[in-house]
Amino acid sequence: MGSIYSEDALLRRALHFPHCPVAYPTRGNPTAMRFTRREFSKLAALSLAARLAPAAQAHKETTTRKTGYAVIGLGRIAGHFLPAVRGSANSQITGLVSGHRDKADKIAAEYGVPSSSIYNYDNFDDIVHNPAVDAVYVALPNSMHAEYTIRAAKAGKHVLCEKPMSTSVADAEAMIAACKAANVKLMIAYRCHYEPTNLKAIQLIRDGALGQVQAISSTFGGNISAGEWRLNKQLAGGGPLLDLGIYSLNACRYLTGEEPAHISAFASTIDHDGRFNNVEENLTWSMTFPSGIVASCSTSYGAWMPDHYRVYGAKGWLQVDHAFTYEGLQLRAEFSGAKIDEINPARDPSHFVAEAEHFSHCVENNLQPKSPGEEGLRDMQCMVQIYQSAGLST
Ligand code: NDP
Repeated sequence: MGSIYSEDALLRRALHFPHCPVAYPTRGNPTAMRFTRREFSKLAALSLAARLAPAAQAHKETTTRKTGYAVIGLGRIAGHFLPAVRGSANSQITGLVSGHRDKADKIAAEYGVPSSSIYNYDNFDDIVHNPAVDAVYVALPNSMHAEYTIRAAKAGKHVLCEKPMSTSVADAEAMIAACKAANVKLMIAYRCHYEPTNLKAIQLIRDGALGQVQAISSTFGGNISAGEWRLNKQLAGGGPLLDLGIYSLNACRYLTGEEPAHISAFASTIDHDGRFNNVEENLTWSMTFPSGIVASCSTSYGAWMPDHYRVYGAKGWLQVDHAFTYEGLQLRAEFSGAKIDEINPARDPSHFVAEAEHFSHCVENNLQPKSPGEEGLRDMQCMVQIYQSAGLST
């Protein structure tokens, strides 16, 4: 079987465009796009702003203090965060934490990080003595998030932690408690919370464009390669739910603005080829929300399931394709005689720029991040319920 999954590859759309890792310009039928003059001007302005960003940044450099980040774990997602921080207006890379010194040295040279600010997993706690590091970005396998969040908090560093926040409710609670005790901020890196197409979908729903929302469906899955740490329950904490399904779960929560009242789930493993000895292969779950909205989601490590959500309301529907992808998000909707069909022109790593800028702004101005630890905890609680309902251990 040709296993072609990596979360990064999925999110880059390499599956659709194997010869073109940056897929946006060739996706879809451009003639199907319908922009109003106002929308088009807005998109053009956004694109112009992106091109002018370096100039704006140079100006800001002289006027604004930048939040310094140490990146912990120099893998695939760190490869998006590093250039995003470099392209941001208010953040900079000031430290690296890695088990591979040669890799860290190369990245340090690229980002101007002094060798005294490169740590490994054993001497990481020395970061307490480094005033250039204000915050850490935890980009490690899932089960390591809690340990490094807590160690960073004890060193007085703010924490931006990748999803899933942890692999258990107890760890998530301990992470929140450690950050509170140390008086540092904790944000979970839910980049879709800072992404314009997702925000527009939420706004359309809140504005009542669809009328009363009745139902939501969402999927995200991939065909995983053997050997990934994601198949090792010790490191991953679970299967596709914690990795990919979490996007659909979180989307149902931000689209409805409600917390699930009831959850029921089913899991299966079809491929007994050694990949799924530890974690589930397929998982599908349903949720009802207090308003009565019903949601149905599926995730898989055995099949490509395009990341999308569709929301059905009394007056119409909306759908976001590539909803959790780094770029090329497409919003389509029909309601009360109106039609929307637009592709967001922003390019990777724009989601990470927005995320880092938000967290740095919160750090510099002592504000609560929009996706704090409690948001990650809520997803963790729901995922435990999903596993329990499916008869799987957590
Ligand atoms: P990778 O395997 O690509 O990178 C993880 C890094 O962690 C490694 O490169 C390594 O860095 C370090 N590491 C330390 N101990 C281990 C270990 N025992 N096994 C493997 N790696 C180890 O993973 P990803 O970057 O894809 O994922 C990291 C986190 O980011 C996950 O929690 C994932 O869910 C999340 N993620 C979020 C995405 C998003 O869009 N928000 C997308 C993709 C992932 P070093 O060699 O420097 O020590």
